[in-house]
Amino acid sequence: MRFSDRFVAERHYVFDVLLGDFLGLDYVIQIEPGARGYVIELPNGRRLWMRDAFFGDLPDSTAYLTSSSLPRGTRIVARLPFAPEADAVVLFGEGDVVQEGADLHCGVDIVATMFFMLGRWEEALPDPPLDEHGRWRGASSVAFAGAFLHRPIVNEYVEAVWSMLAHLECRQPRRERRFSLVPTHDLDIIYPSRIRTLGHAAFRARSARAMMQAARIALSTGSPFDTFDWLMDLSESVGVRSRFNLLGGGTSPRYDEGRYRLADARVRAIVRHILDRHHLLGFHPSYSAHLNPAQWASERRAIEAAFGVTLSEGRHHYLRFRVPETWRMWDEGGMAVDSTAGYADVEGFRCGTGDLFPTFDVRRRRALRLKERPLVIMEGTLAGYRKLSARGSQEVVRRYIEVAARYRMPLTILFHNNSFDEVRWPGWRQAYQTIFDLSQGVGQRD
Ligand SMILES: [Zn+2]
Repeated sequence: MRFSDRFVAERHYVFDVLLGDFLGLDYVIQIEPGARGYVIELPNGRRLWMRDAFFGDLPDSTAYLTSSSLPRGTRIVARLPFAPEADAVVLFGEGDVVQEGADLHCGVDIVATMFFMLGRWEEALPDPPLDEHGRWRGASSVAFAGAFLHRPIVNEYVEAVWSMLAHLECRQPRRERRFSLVPTHDLDIIYPSRIRTLGHAAFRARSARAMMQAARIALSTGSPFDTFDWLMDLSESVGVRSRFNLLGGGTSPRYDEGRYRLADARVRAIVRHILDRHHLLGFHPSYSAHLNPAQWASERRAIEAAFGVTLSEGRHHYLRFRVPETWRMWDEGGMAVDSTAGYADVEGFRCGTGDLFPTFDVRRRRALRLKERPLVIMEGTLAGYRKLSARGSQEVVRRYIEVAARYRMPLTILFHNNSFDEVRWPGWRQAYQTIFDLSQGVGQRD
């Protein structure tokens, strides 16, 4: 593998992810000052040339963090040779692959494409348009504008590269891949407020029967939010474990305070039970923590001290997340995996993949040890932003399960423990159950 001595950190990162993390190949990177484009040379002497349509024209700095570096429109190219789908999304370079002698020449700049999707640098441009929670919107992304947010284009190009290498008679086996459902649950509310449940029912209930049902839930001693055993049973039914992310504090009166206390006996019992059943406890930093390392660290310490655990992964409350600062904070805190990088306003592949991948700090220009397990679908997106019914949402998830199964990759979903009471979430229990039946149908193991 050869490329020039400019943008070494960025290019090295992409090839490590492509050839190492995704394909699991042995490779050596050579820096060759003055080289144009990228060359992968196999032991048999045959070469794959890939066009550089991005870094080659830029000064070696963070100069690409400007809107003029964004892809100039999304081109959909039919029948790109070696690509796995009927058409390919081309962001940088030209949509062609041709054979010259024993070599292949790929006109698409796959390196810039992967760096764009995985590094998320479009989110780090000056003056980003943020929503009322300070989040970058899915609707602002190039993938949304180009109508390819539902496609794992990083994986599509990984498959294309693999097909090209196979054509050139690469003899190395690639890493085995498989589909798996990754159920995650952020614990925002553990016990419901009876007043709120009744009030909501009175406002929404269309019949006396629905009102009675709401009253029964509100006045019963059992909590409709105590769905933990059911969630864990379903995960176990397809051979995976649930990930439960716990809040450790927070200072926002509106979004953090009064949710639950770690010292509460009911909270302690639930956490103990999760750990006893060998499911995973994660960190859910509060609304106040996504750009505040001191707050973040104190919440994490509170959970670790309360339960005698070491947290290594999790997701931010409200999906509050900024590139690259939030990733950097997790990395500097020694965490292994963040799973915040999904959009609140629309489901899809924010990072162009469902796979776990190493992150990159686009301001300091260095690869991080932290990995991202991108969130693809949150139930609140489907119900709240997209206004879909339980059945409609189930259909969306079914399509993503098919895509994830086709690319043999994980599919991370977020369903809160409090999203299953029949008053506010009619039909969602059944829909969630069906997701597991569908997953079982395409075959998986943890
Ligand atoms: Zn939350």
